[in-house]
Amino acid sequence: MKRIALLGATGSIGLQTVDVIRNHSDEFELYAMAFGRNLEKASPIIKEFRPKLVVVQDENTLQQVKSEFPELQVRLSLEGMYEAATHDQVDVVVNAVMGSVGLSATLGAIEAKKQVAIANKETLVTAGHLVMDAAHRNQVSLLPIDSEHSAIYMCLNGEREKDANKIILTASGGSFRDKTRAELEGVNVEDALNHPNWSMGAKITIDSATMMNKGLEVIEAHWLFDMPYDNIDVIMHKESVIHSMVEFVDKSVMAQLGTPDMRVPIQYALTYPKRLELPDTKTLNLVEIGKLHFQEMDMERFPCLRMAYEAGRQGGTMTTVLNAANEQAVDLFLKGEISFLTIETLIEKALEQHSIVHQPNLETILAVDEETRKRVISYVK
Ligand code: NDP
Ligand code: MG
Repeated sequence: MKRIALLGATGSIGLQTVDVIRNHSDEFELYAMAFGRNLEKASPIIKEFRPKLVVVQDENTLQQVKSEFPELQVRLSLEGMYEAATHDQVDVVVNAVMGSVGLSATLGAIEAKKQVAIANKETLVTAGHLVMDAAHRNQVSLLPIDSEHSAIYMCLNGEREKDANKIILTASGGSFRDKTRAELEGVNVEDALNHPNWSMGAKITIDSATMMNKGLEVIEAHWLFDMPYDNIDVIMHKESVIHSMVEFVDKSVMAQLGTPDMRVPIQYALTYPKRLELPDTKTLNLVEIGKLHFQEMDMERFPCLRMAYEAGRQGGTMTTVLNAANEQAVDLFLKGEISFLTIETLIEKALEQHSIVHQPNLETILAVDEETRKRVISYVK
């Protein structure tokens, strides 16, 4: 029986993780869970699984949880998530919170030598060197939940990483794949939230529309698989059937295919190295699909992808700025305060105005993150 601490339980990945735990109640126990404020989604999970520890984002939610579940241990905020992630009864930490707020819990889980299943890609973008250094020191393997990285993990299948020549990430193109830049001028939040292939949280859906999601994934792949940026390619593949590929030194290419269902990578990260049945997912029918399409990525059409490669290559605090500026800009867009194309303008400006710090420690990363968010707000106010 694996005891799980699930961070971000009320989100898109969180709820699908709950589904996986429910399907395999003989394998997994939901021991601890963290969420923000969404009590409507959290309440039924608490009732069903009776976790020993619950973490919430603010005092108000804490009081509500305590009055509904008086016997429960409830904790607050980042310290609470850290406690859940490092709890001595916990075997596996699933980090599915949105944003760089997940960083200290990830680091804590690694230092406590937990098995870490990571969806929270912002953690790796903002402080990849610290996370990977901690993972190597503690001999903890990070199991990716992001579908592309799960695909790469499966394609590598334990082969020596140095035998892999290249990583090829596929991109579905997001909600605005077929729009020109001119057509992007007037798009609104509702249009952007309408992703053709995947149903996900709001922030990552916007990231998919701007192509920043793929940019973050390039950086995530760089850290997870120790691959130089020159050896990470992105190609457009609108069907989302091939979830990513690895080219080996002998030019042999491995690809992982399947219908789009995040429970596949979530479950694999929990059961690795074995697999379990996933009863109600669709089988891939290639005959029905007929054709798969591939296209080169246009860096002018998708400047966020270009900026992510550039920030990644510069290294140091540049990716911290990229991530924080993006989180802040997307938040402003979701609140209706800026236009869609202003997202990339703000990120570009934040990157231009930042003086890089090489090999930043945790304190520097947290400070740069906070400072960048303030700066992005000051650009619009
Ligand atoms: P959602 O927005 O759906 O969920 C985010 C979760 O994090 C919610 O449970 C939310 O709580 C919680 N949360 C946010 N801020 C805090 C905080 N300060 N303290 C505690 N909890 C917090 O996001 P997704 O599930 O879509 O994505 C989660 C992560 O997984 C992201 O990093 C994303 O990039 C990554 N990912 C997601 C994929 C997907 O298919 N959705 C695919 C691949 C990666 P509440 O809602 O209660 O406030
Ligand atoms: Mg992905």
